Amino acid sequence: MSALEELQSGALTAEENVVRYLEAIEARDGEINAFIEVNPRAIEEARAVDEKIKQGRAGKLAGLAIAVKSNINVRGLRATCASKTLENYVAPYDATVIERIRREDGIIIGMTNMDEFACGSSGETSYFGATQNPAAKGRIPGGSSSGSAAAIAANFADLALGSDTGGSIRNPASHCGVVGIKPTYGLVPRYGLIDLAMSLDQIGPLARDVYSAALLLEVIAGYNPKEATTLRVSQQNYTSKLSADLSGYTIGFAKEFEEYAAKEIIREVKHALAKLEAQGASVVEVELPNLSKALPTYYLTVFVEFFSATRRYDGRRYGYRIEEVCGEEVLRRILLGRYISQKEYSGKYYRRALQFRSLIKKEMLEALSGVDLIAGPTTPKLPHRIGESIDPLAMYAYDLLTVPANLAGIPAGVIKAGEVGEIPVGIQFHAKPLEEQKILNAMYALEGG
Ligand code: GLN
Repeated sequence: MSALEELQSGALTAEENVVRYLEAIEARDGEINAFIEVNPRAIEEARAVDEKIKQGRAGKLAGLAIAVKSNINVRGLRATCASKTLENYVAPYDATVIERIRREDGIIIGMTNMDEFACGSSGETSYFGATQNPAAKGRIPGGSSSGSAAAIAANFADLALGSDTGGSIRNPASHCGVVGIKPTYGLVPRYGLIDLAMSLDQIGPLARDVYSAALLLEVIAGYNPKEATTLRVSQQNYTSKLSADLSGYTIGFAKEFEEYAAKEIIREVKHALAKLEAQGASVVEVELPNLSKALPTYYLTVFVEFFSATRRYDGRRYGYRIEEVCGEEVLRRILLGRYISQKEYSGKYYRRALQFRSLIKKEMLEALSGVDLIAGPTTPKLPHRIGESIDPLAMYAYDLLTVPANLAGIPAGVIKAGEVGEIPVGIQFHAKPLEEQKILNAMYALEGG
């Protein structure tokens, strides 16, 4: 039985659920390093939820323990972005997603480790030290939502929130063998998320199973009148529409994926596609000829937007002046972002990136127009060993297959497809804007099949 079923049947109280996770964190997180901070009030909050359960007025997430990436504001806990810059920054308010989780009686179990300011793909750039991959010992868990994915894989929480600017939910979901979803841009409120690149960032769920990922997504999704970038969509109901029947689904696979991802990863993805065919889906070939342009387009955009977002860390209002205390990758991005912004009067870089972004968006939407989903690999290669030195460009290359979804603003989800030498490998599904349900259904079919 999952914790959700146990909680719903009354076999487990919210307090018992939270206590067992706190004990697991205490016993094993010294080694994994998934959490920066646990919520000291978690047990107290669980008791209050148990009261509501007794009175029959508890919400959809009643008693579930939810781990939150350290770049999302949770009142009273630190939102550090895993940086010395915000080392002691205590969030003064709840992000909209946290308000929604609390309204449904979910319990925040703690704040998770990440790459510093979400800049990275490995979980190694945290000021609080690297996170281990619970599913592949000695290897990186992926990033930047490294602690959130690791917390799920290590059984430290029922659910987790991550943020995804260029793959930060999907990349660690793939490496840790869990479910991760990057929603359509604007589906989930960003209010209270500390920006990496505001035109690309989305908050999304990580979970051990598709049903609970769908549940968390439906709680956090939907229009927020206070936020200009949220879409005018009402409350979603993904869980009640979950179906593993894929008859009538057409899934596209781009031949370009084979050029960029390792053979053994492609093999696992194709194996998963064959399972989906057995469940009624048909698989066809699609083309993404501009796939290789997505990565430079993404990084140009991120450098400029991140540079602008970091100007508030001048040491007067929050913590330290960022340039004085940040790590190498964050500094590299600030310096490149400053340089590009200065040159921008000639429209040489950022404006070009915007043009390419439109091209990539058009290409993704065209490829999706004839199919329900595009499925492919998540990362081009397997996670490296922690501490193995890899240069910045090799680190950026992890994102090649995840950034197109952010540039196009479309939803994408990852679930484990198989393993290569005991290392998990995820399959990634893309859909048209707001068609998260199709991604969830395909993942649900794969999970059952
Ligand atoms: N790895 C990408 C980067 O470093 C993506 C980060 C993210 O999605 N937050 O920018």
